[in-house]
Amino acid sequence: MNTSKYLEIHSKLKEKAVNLVAVSKTKPAEDIQALYDIGQRIFGENKVQELCDKAEQLPKDIEWHMIGHLQRNKVKYIAPFVSLIHGVDSLRLLKEINKQGRKIERQIPVLLQMHIADEETKFGLDKAELDEIIALDPNEAYPFVKICGLMGMATNTDDNAQVCQEFKNLKQYFDNLKAGYFKDSNDFKEISMGMSGDYELAIEAGSTMVRIGSLIFGERDYSK
Ligand SMILES: *Cc1c(COP(=O)(O)O)cnc(C)c1O
Repeated sequence: MNTSKYLEIHSKLKEKAVNLVAVSKTKPAEDIQALYDIGQRIFGENKVQELCDKAEQLPKDIEWHMIGHLQRNKVKYIAPFVSLIHGVDSLRLLKEINKQGRKIERQIPVLLQMHIADEETKFGLDKAELDEIIALDPNEAYPFVKICGLMGMATNTDDNAQVCQEFKNLKQYFDNLKAGYFKDSNDFKEISMGMSGDYELAIEAGSTMVRIGSLIFGERDYSK
């Protein structure tokens, strides 16, 4: 783990009032505990099982964010405690989260994930799917979901101009929704964009929340 890099990033983000999600996927609980001990409270995972196992072992005041693609049949496992679900990429998933929230009478905080990258493989809503969601009255259609903003992932490319443009597109979606559909919402305020390789560009484009893994914890080893 790179503590000095963490502290450097942390102070830079603090200055700009940007939230840091420390992405701890594949990393052991000891690494999370070490970062916790120097003050980090928000951690992001992308697998439900791993998220639940770590939440069980680690301090209870950690805010766990689900940042990856979420399968509908797994929502129930994280519904009671998850602090934010970043990757809501379909109306069906949103409805399932609402259903699980209703069962336990908890309003579950989520972000709608927009497809901004120029890659087929990245998950996210397109404009038509977003329109389908906001065609409904949220208080009636999904009262047990709290829509806190948008999330997006830029294309994995060295072309900074392209990445910037994609982040600006997400910001534009956000501004339009904030001024329109969500104009009466106090919850709709987050734009989750930016990872280790592009978080500085994301902040310039208006990110309020970055998700950083490898810069802090080191490269991930998926071979184990
Ligand atoms: C893994 C992951 C990150 C962090 O990636 P790094 O490049 O290690 O910072 C951010 N967001 C999502 C959705 C991820 O899956």
